[in-house]
This record gives sequence, C-alpha cells and structure tokens, in this order.
Amino acid sequence: MGLARIGLGSNAGDATANVTRALEALATLGTVTTHSQLYVSKAWGERDQPDFVNAAALLETHLDPRALLDALKALEASLGRKATYRWGPRVIDLDILAYDDLEVREPDLRVPHERLFERAFALAPLAEIDPSFRPAYARLTPEQRAEVTPLASG
Ligand code: ADP
Ligand code: MG
Repeated sequence: MGLARIGLGSNAGDATANVTRALEALATLGTVTTHSQLYVSKAWGERDQPDFVNAAALLETHLDPRALLDALKALEASLGRKATYRWGPRVIDLDILAYDDLEVREPDLRVPHERLFERAFALAPLAEIDPSFRPAYARLTPEQRAEVTPLASG
C-alpha cells in the first residue's frame, strides 16, 4: 500500500465542478483519506487563458506509481480531457505530486513531480493537507504564495 499525493487542476468548462467530480472519482483508485479545499490560481506558462481551480488529495492505493499514472490518465480521459497544446486549457489535470518517499526518474514519469517545488498552485493545497510539505511552501516567495488563494465559498 502506498500513499500518493495527487494534484488536481481544471480551467475549462465548470472548473469547480470538474475538480469536485475528479475528487470523487479518485475513490475508484484507492482510499482518499483527505483532500484540500479548492483554490484559484492564474494560468501558469500560458497566461492568456481562464484561471485554474486546484486541489490536492491524499490517496492510499495498491497501485504503484506507473500503474497510478496510467489510471490517472484514463480518469482524465473519462472526465472529458482532450489533448490540446502544452499547458493549454484543460478540463482536468491529475498529477502524482509525490508517492511515499519514492524518487522516479523516467522520461514520462517523474516523482516527485518535476515542477512541484516551483508551483504555488500545487504546493499550497498540498501543504494544507500534508505538513511535510509546509517547509517547501514556506520557501516560495510572497509573490508566488499570493498567486494562489482559497476559492471563496458560498
Ligand atoms: P502538466 O505537466 O501540466 O501536468 P500534462 O498533464 O499534459 O502536463 O502532462 C504531460 C506528461 O507529464 C504526462 O503525459 C505524463 O506522462 C508526464 N508526467 C511525468 N511525471 C508525472 C507525474 N508525476 N504525474 C503526472 N504526469 C507526469
Ligand atoms: Mg498533468
């Protein structure tokens, strides 16, 4: 049994609904022990596109990182993700942010996620639910941290 930290993001269609559906769908891959609240962030890389809604979840799973990556890609497709250009708008993005203390360095699978430690939109929700990532979040600049804010509720 492994503990995976999953990052979720959407900026196409009803982004809040997409992330909420994805959080529910993650339960088909194991046990979601906790998930963060929803956050809003500016699009990264390509800025001329809608804001993202982001979240993170802790997933206890029997799937190893490779099998989990395949399962997340299948889940993305089932939730309506279509291939667009790199960093373009996406209905749902499901990333393995970290998996136990594993390090995987393969061409199409990097764990911890290659850009985790520079992405406030990934670290902010993850630090909320996993204290071991709070130091990394604290190392972000105030400007980086200000780019990601909890989604106003109600
Ligand atoms: P992004 O980097 O914004 O998540 P994509 O979702 O389009 O971009 O992912 C591109 C590729 O990144 C995927 O096809 C996948 O093989 C690869 N990848 C490498 N490491 C990971 C990881 N830890 N989690 C998810 N995808 C990963
Ligand atoms: Mg991805």
